[in-house]
Amino acid sequence: MVKLIGIPFDKKSSFLQGPALAPARIRQVLHDGGSNYWTEKLQNPIEHKDFSDAGDLNVDVYEDIEKELKKVLLPGVKLLSLGGDHSVTYPLIKAYKEVYGAFDILHIDAHGDLYDAFDGDPHSHACPFARIMEEGLAARLVQVGVRTLNPHQLAQARHFGVEQITMLDFEEKWRSLKFNRPLYISMDLDGLDPAFAPGVSHHEPGGLSTRQVLDIFHHVDAALIGADIVEYNPHRDVSGMTAAVAAKLLKELAGKMV
Ligand code: MN
Ligand code: MN
Repeated sequence: MVKLIGIPFDKKSSFLQGPALAPARIRQVLHDGGSNYWTEKLQNPIEHKDFSDAGDLNVDVYEDIEKELKKVLLPGVKLLSLGGDHSVTYPLIKAYKEVYGAFDILHIDAHGDLYDAFDGDPHSHACPFARIMEEGLAARLVQVGVRTLNPHQLAQARHFGVEQITMLDFEEKWRSLKFNRPLYISMDLDGLDPAFAPGVSHHEPGGLSTRQVLDIFHHVDAALIGADIVEYNPHRDVSGMTAAVAAKLLKELAGKMV
């Protein structure tokens, strides 16, 4: 069973608020008739019998996320989660570890999100992958699209054995992406170039095209057990363009999960 959920939470954002509004906006674009439900590989995951929309988690404070996830992530369930800022991925992966055991993570992002703490908060949206790696929750973490490293985050990546395909070596390396365990994909929309996805809190030029992200999804053939799409900020969007990108990525990811 694939369940779509929304996690309307942005209290761990360091710079701007807005991603709490994302789940509703992305669903709206998914269903508004501007596009159809078919994936590029001619599947219709949204109307598939094994796909359902479980609505939004009831989240007020950060700790609620983990509690609420326990109610929906039951054995046999795969979650497609709409964030929320990227802080939601740590409780998601924690819940996944209990249900799924060993799995790999493909993390697409402009940022490593590996800070030990940011503005004094170890659960900031700049930190989830530090928490995930120090608790050994992922068998492998592969980051793609990173273009904001600093000495601290590079040291963290080396310390935790994080594999990175940065924008500097993307063209050369992306086709070598290969996973041998079940896979979880964490999609931060700012991994895309802001020309393609302006509706994010942190504009970081020099990123991936929508096409390149879709090609990565289609290229990776491991069993997809879960995915999240995070950091959509409607306040920064232009003509709903980023919501349309998010809805498209949602559809293609759902196609890989049903
Ligand atoms: Mn992120
Ligand atoms: Mn980011």
